Amino acid sequence: MRAIELHRDAGAYALGVLGTVDTCRFEEHLAGCSACVVQVREFGPVVAHLAAYAHLLPPGGVPRPAGRP
Ligand SMILES: [Zn+2]
Repeated sequence: MRAIELHRDAGAYALGVLGTVDTCRFEEHLAGCSACVVQVREFGPVVAHLAAYAHLLPPGGVPRPAGRP
């Protein structure tokens, strides 16, 4: 995997949605990439907000706007 592709995984890593292999690859990349360290750190509040919002959702997921099936 090229470094530019690993840079793109910062958000997915912060959200914890990478698979085991990709997590290991990204963590190796993260050890030497200060830009990704900053990105992962900046995703922290976003992850916290998403987690808080997820607790507000009804069972089954995101409510649909009125009038839409
Ligand atoms: Zn990087």
